[in-house]
Amino acid sequence: MAQSTVGGDLGRAGRPAPGLRTRLTLSYVLLFAIVMASIGFTFHQALVVIVHQQAERLLDGEWSALKGFLRSRDAELVWAYDPEHPEEAFTVEQLRRVFLLTTADGEVVEMSNGYSSIGRESVQTIRSVLQSGRTATVKRRGARGEVYMVRMGPYGGGGKTYFAAIGMKAGETERIPSRMLAVYAVSMPVMLLAIGILGWYASGRALSPLHRVAAAAQTVSGGNLSLRLERLGTGDELDELIQTFNGMMERLEANFEQMRRFSMDASHELRTPLTAIRGQLEVAQLTARTTDDFRRAIAMALEDVERLGRIVQSLLQLAQAEAGQIRLNLEPEMLAEVAARQMARFEALAESKRLSLELEASDGCVALVDRLQMERLMDNLLSNAVKYTQEGGRVAVRIRREDNEAVIEVADNGPGIAAQHLPHIFDKFYRVREGEKTASRGVGLGLAFVHWIARAHGGRVTVESKPGKGSTFRVRLPAHPEKSGEARAG
Ligand code: ADP
Repeated sequence: MAQSTVGGDLGRAGRPAPGLRTRLTLSYVLLFAIVMASIGFTFHQALVVIVHQQAERLLDGEWSALKGFLRSRDAELVWAYDPEHPEEAFTVEQLRRVFLLTTADGEVVEMSNGYSSIGRESVQTIRSVLQSGRTATVKRRGARGEVYMVRMGPYGGGGKTYFAAIGMKAGETERIPSRMLAVYAVSMPVMLLAIGILGWYASGRALSPLHRVAAAAQTVSGGNLSLRLERLGTGDELDELIQTFNGMMERLEANFEQMRRFSMDASHELRTPLTAIRGQLEVAQLTARTTDDFRRAIAMALEDVERLGRIVQSLLQLAQAEAGQIRLNLEPEMLAEVAARQMARFEALAESKRLSLELEASDGCVALVDRLQMERLMDNLLSNAVKYTQEGGRVAVRIRREDNEAVIEVADNGPGIAAQHLPHIFDKFYRVREGEKTASRGVGLGLAFVHWIARAHGGRVTVESKPGKGSTFRVRLPAHPEKSGEARAG
């Protein structure tokens, strides 16, 4: 069957629904913003700690140097160094740049200009530092906002305790964390924009198969049911969606095809007897001379009218059955008894064709069935077997239980059915036409009924057949657990 395929073109031509695409993109951007902000914050905090530790180490060095150069002499603290020695002179000059030395009462012994610019310490601070007996490191801001790290602590000399503080201007390193934060804050919107663009593109690509399915579904009509979408081959959910869509189209196409064939077959079936009736009446009109001629023509026409009536009635019933309008009145029945009753109806016909009609039934095979429909099922299978089997043949009905199933078999040694017809044998109006005698022509709806009845009872019907050897129709129904004695008899 010819199939048209909608490939990537359709996907490229249209755009996926903007709502979902926008939402996906915004989710990407939001997620990235959260991740980037937390990375930035953690990184900043780690840098602050590292820089602070580095400053502390530098201050440690300065504090030890202080101890080397500020010594007590004659109950006083003096700077002891060799002014001629350039390194010593430089170190002491560095130490005294931001330096404060007070007595325990806060009286200034020495204060550099550098220190006065960051404000001298209050007496309370001096007292509390001296009381703690330990050095402390604090941050101070200069007049122009520059940051100083100040190490302060008790300083013993000449039998007295002084308060000493040395400061160090925070260098470039101290500003690294805030610089990093600033760079991060500026670059984040740019990165988020880039991620947004990428996300927009990626979600557009990811959603395009959805759009293809939607666009294809919109174009579906009775005329192009052969439409299939090209698989992505990724095996993901979207690929599965396409596969599901294709599966749906296949079923729709099959159903449409079945309907089309059915209406063609139905009109053909109805037209044939109508044409025959018309022909018979026209011939009678032109050629009949006597009352007997007219009677014969009317009798022939009536035969076809009856056939028409049978077809219409069967069609109506089948349509009702398939539309779920036939309600089953389920009761436990002994299948062997139903079979025996139906077989009795065919005895005369079988006898006239010298057919042997046998029933083999195991005891107590009970199923929950609608008696009328089950009689109709057996009737259709038996009438086919008796009708198609040649004179002197054999028709056997076997009823047995297999596990949880009740099995009804109608077997004959008639002409059999060729393999190519077997898949269609239960379709409406399907008939194996070869060599069929007009007299045995059926409507072609019998097996369609059998199929529907078996399914309506939760069972199924199958056929095994070999041309020249015979056919076996097998109906399997869910067996009823009730014992034979309790089932309704007769
Ligand atoms: P029909 O009214 O033509 O019998 P069915 O639906 O009952 O319609 O059967 C469909 C076709 O299956 C028949 O036309 C016949 O060719 C074939 N068929 C059914 N039962 C038998 C059988 N027991 N032996 C051979 N052919 C059969």
